[in-house]
Amino acid sequence: MRRLTTGAAALSIPLDDTQAEQFLRYGSELAAWNKRFNLTAITAKDEVITRHFLDSLSVAAALPHEPRSRGRGLLDLGSGAGFPGIPLKIAFPCWRVALLEASGKKAAFLEHVIRLLALDGVSVLAGRAETLAHDPDHREAYDNVVSRAVAQMPVLAELCLPFCRLGGTFVAQKSRAGAAEISSASQAIEMLGGRLAHMRDVDYDGGRGLLAVVEKTARTPARYPRRPGIPAKRPL
Ligand code: SAH
Repeated sequence: MRRLTTGAAALSIPLDDTQAEQFLRYGSELAAWNKRFNLTAITAKDEVITRHFLDSLSVAAALPHEPRSRGRGLLDLGSGAGFPGIPLKIAFPCWRVALLEASGKKAAFLEHVIRLLALDGVSVLAGRAETLAHDPDHREAYDNVVSRAVAQMPVLAELCLPFCRLGGTFVAQKSRAGAAEISSASQAIEMLGGRLAHMRDVDYDGGRGLLAVVEKTARTPARYPRRPGIPAKRPL
C-alpha cells in the first residue's frame, strides 16, 4: 500500500488511511471476483496498484479537482471493473460519479464494490452508451466524461461527446503511442461538437500515459451516437 500512497502523492493526490483502506479492500475484492468472472487480465498486486489504481488517478491531471455543480458530475464510460471511475471516487469523495458499463456481470461487481466501500454519490448505469446517450436525463448532462481502454478515438468521441455538457470536458486515457490515433480523430471530434484542446503526457510510479483533452464547444447533432455497434463498425 505504501507504493500506492507514495505514487498518489507524487500525482499530488494525498490519500488518508481510510482511503488507503478502501483501495486495499477494492483490490482484494477484485482478486476474489476475478477467480469466478474474468474482470481484468491484471491480477498481480503491484500491477493492480500501478496499472489500475495509479493509472486511473493519473487522469485527474486533466480534470478540475473542485466539485462542479452545473451538471451531473463525472461519467466513466465503459468502466469495466471500475477504472478509472472508482479510484477517482475514492480519491475525491465529494465528486459525483456515474459508471456506465454494458456488461451485466461487471455492472454487478461495480454495485457490489460501491456498497462494500460505502461510497456515496456513485451510480452504476448498466447498458450501452449508444442507447443511454439518447436519454434526455443523460444527454449533454455531464461536466466531465472520461474513458479508458474502450475504443479507438473516433469511436470513443461518438460515444462520449453526446454525454458531455456544453463547456464540459471529455478526457480519453490513451497510451503514449496514441498521439497519431488521437490526431486522426480531430475531424470526427468536430462533427460531434468537440475541439481537441490538447494532449498531455502523464507519468506515475510504474507507468506512463497520454491524455487527450477534448472541450465540448457545440451541441452534438441528434443523430449521434448511431445505433449500438455502428460507431465501432463504421467509425466516423
Ligand atoms: N475502463 C476499464 C474497462 C476497459 S474494457 C479499464 O480501463 O479497465 C472496455 C469496457 O467497456 C468493457 O467492460 C465493455 O463492456 C465496455 N463497453 C464497450 N463498449 C461499450 C458501450 N458501447 N457502452 C457501454 N460499455 C461499453
